[in-house]
Amino acid sequence: MIYLDAAATAPPRREVLEAMWPYLTTEFGNPSSSHSAGESAARALEEARETAAAVLGCRPGEIIFTSGGTEADNLAVKGLALTGMDRLDRMDRLDRLDRLERPAHERSGASPQLVSTAVEHPAVLESLDYLRRRHGFRVMLLPVDETGMVDPEEAAAALTPETVLCSVMYANNEVGTIQPVGEIAARCRAAGVPFHTDAVQAGGWLDLDVGTLGVDALSLSGHKLGTPKGIGLLYLRGAPPLEPVMHGGGQERGRRSGTENVAGAVGMAAALALAAAERDDAARHASALRNRLIDAVLRGVPGALLTGHGTERLPGHASFCFPGTSGEAVLLELERAGVLCSSGSACAAGSDEPSAVLTAMGLDRETAQTAVRFTFTAAIREGDVDRAAQEVVAAVAAVGGLAPARLRA
Ligand code: PLP
Repeated sequence: MIYLDAAATAPPRREVLEAMWPYLTTEFGNPSSSHSAGESAARALEEARETAAAVLGCRPGEIIFTSGGTEADNLAVKGLALTGMDRLDRMDRLDRLDRLERPAHERSGASPQLVSTAVEHPAVLESLDYLRRRHGFRVMLLPVDETGMVDPEEAAAALTPETVLCSVMYANNEVGTIQPVGEIAARCRAAGVPFHTDAVQAGGWLDLDVGTLGVDALSLSGHKLGTPKGIGLLYLRGAPPLEPVMHGGGQERGRRSGTENVAGAVGMAAALALAAAERDDAARHASALRNRLIDAVLRGVPGALLTGHGTERLPGHASFCFPGTSGEAVLLELERAGVLCSSGSACAAGSDEPSAVLTAMGLDRETAQTAVRFTFTAAIREGDVDRAAQEVVAAVAAVGGLAPARLRA
């Protein structure tokens, strides 16, 4: 079996599991307990925080461990938006006082605004929609070009005095396009708007130094880096006030209640440290093989369409549309041949709707339904890529011919 679905989840890494093992067995204490078993767990948790902080170039107190990328995104978007709304309300009240208690109908009246993109993961998009439905936020989704890229100028132009958060993903999960987050973060900083990035797919490949990126908040997920599922983190610059999503015993300095996943945090730190140490070699190796796969597929399947950006693309990420086929049928053929991959994203799999990412990039619905995504870790071998490419050519031929892709006018 050739596993080419690392963007859905990566195989757990032995080094990570070994680091976690003591905290799943002998060192099982609750970090909130004041006896020695609890103290030992609390120490492990703090060491994990320090290791993760060293990789991100931040202070340990700026790391909040979560149950994964979805929770980190929810906490960033809802937490920062609701806190921002309070700030705006306070300013509005002060403004009215300044103007000798003008009546309510003379207030600016503008709702707080959230700026994001049309190609975010549902963890961000659904959080934004919740804030719109239940709390009256205005949500502005920036368009992307045909490569899936956001224009920093458009992002800057979308910021208003009412914008309380801008969230733009570091790299896209479906097509692998890397966004100019540094540039967008700089525009947000200049406008005084907090900037969050979903770095879940970027975590294993790209620079995570939050100082260099200039971001205020950044989400990561462990299982894309080789931990078991169920751990992630949110970096939050300077530990500002944050409305929690999980209420309870006040763990993680009141920002994320719930008994901490000590083993998960230890695994997350180990995975991040490994990814940072291996990053340059891993990216070089994976991108050479990714290009080999792309070349072989484009040569072997006339009419195949590479989706995403030509160069600003995650090293382990190659996604295509095979017009005239069905993505699901190609997947089934590939699975029969022992190649596991996905159509678009794991989250959208099983849905009849075409990928919102691909339609936002201007592809028509029909073509978008023919998407197939291949994603791998740096452990990929040349022989696997070559065999996968052969099987792709055979699978597409088996499920039908290719019609030219239509771009939406
Ligand atoms: N954000 C992106 C870009 C993702 O690709 C994913 C998962 O695929 C998530 C968030 C959610 O992460 P998790 O599976 O850890 O909840």
